[in-house]
Amino acid sequence: MKTERLYYTDAYRTAFDAQVLACAPRAPSTPGAPTAYAVELAASAFYPTSGGQPFDTGTLGDARVVDVIDEGDGRVVHVTDRALGPGTVVAGTVDWARRLEHMQQHTGQHVLSAAFEALFSNRTESFHLGADSCSIDLAGEVSAQDVSRAIDEANRIVWEDRPVTVRFVSEQEAASLPLRKEPARGGTLRLVEVADYDLSACGGTHVARTGAIGIIAASGWEKFRGGSRLQFLCGVRVRRRFDLWRDALAATMTHLSVAPEELAAGVERLQTENKLAQRALRTVQEKLAGYEARALVARGTRVGSRLVIVEARPDLDAVALKAMAVAAATEPGAAVALFSATSPSLVVVACGQGAGVDAGAMLKALVAQFGGKGGGKPDLAQGGGLQGSSDALVAAARELLSR
Ligand SMILES: [Zn+2]
Repeated sequence: MKTERLYYTDAYRTAFDAQVLACAPRAPSTPGAPTAYAVELAASAFYPTSGGQPFDTGTLGDARVVDVIDEGDGRVVHVTDRALGPGTVVAGTVDWARRLEHMQQHTGQHVLSAAFEALFSNRTESFHLGADSCSIDLAGEVSAQDVSRAIDEANRIVWEDRPVTVRFVSEQEAASLPLRKEPARGGTLRLVEVADYDLSACGGTHVARTGAIGIIAASGWEKFRGGSRLQFLCGVRVRRRFDLWRDALAATMTHLSVAPEELAAGVERLQTENKLAQRALRTVQEKLAGYEARALVARGTRVGSRLVIVEARPDLDAVALKAMAVAAATEPGAAVALFSATSPSLVVVACGQGAGVDAGAMLKALVAQFGGKGGGKPDLAQGGGLQGSSDALVAAARELLSR
């Protein structure tokens, strides 16, 4: 049986009594979830997910309403956390804060879409009301200036506090009316009118006067499918976002000691300084590698004419490992294998003049033994992902270089 939709004629009604027509257990949405029930009522003020607007939450007697579904055949199904006796009359209560938030976004969307239409003949193709933000997809591209003008225009309509009314018309009547958008379905149509500004066929819930939208703000836009996707917020969501951005901005301003309008330049300056500092650090590291390489050479062991240098270094990253191995390999006869002391391990093999060792072949032998990957040339090879303790890696490399 069809559900009488109380929100159609009164979007401000949050309390109602209705007879339970049916109640049946419902397959849980995820395995192991508690049993839910599908409840049908003779009448309901609960809005079911449809037309881009999410469902209402609230209670039916002692049961919590966790989802509301439009079955498409005139029935509205309430998903509850407990069973309700068919034939009984229950008191329904709709969560007003959530509903008003949705009404603000939805009515704001009508006004904003109408503004893009009026100013730029830019049609709204679709509307999405998400948990945090809303978006409309516009047929045409928009510039920052277009968005600014449309937002100004939409807020003018908001602040003129125009009435928003609902009426029902036949398909034939609708055909002669200047609807903003071609209706998606036939039969009796529900029209929502923002006085002298917008007329649309819509089944959603709307505020009674545009002033209740509060304010409309655009939070971002991008090119999308030949047109554009515009993110926007209305009413309570603008206030919430303002707080979020205020706190983020305040924290950043404190870190940088700048005013909001100097923030972007401040971050850019910081990035430049960081780049220069990185470069200076690299120069110092290279010099240090030279000194450390000398110490490394001093700790090497002679095997015939070859100088074997093998160590695991907890203090060096990949770049520093390589710099130091290359510097140590300038010593005649030096065969160097340096490992990071991480797990898995990085390795650099560098071989100097007269070492009589192929660094690439040495790396292959290590990878064959410890896994990982890498490669290189006879004088320099690098690898990573070697599985083994530092002691095992060092011992194996020492053995290979002492042959
Ligand atoms: Zn609507």
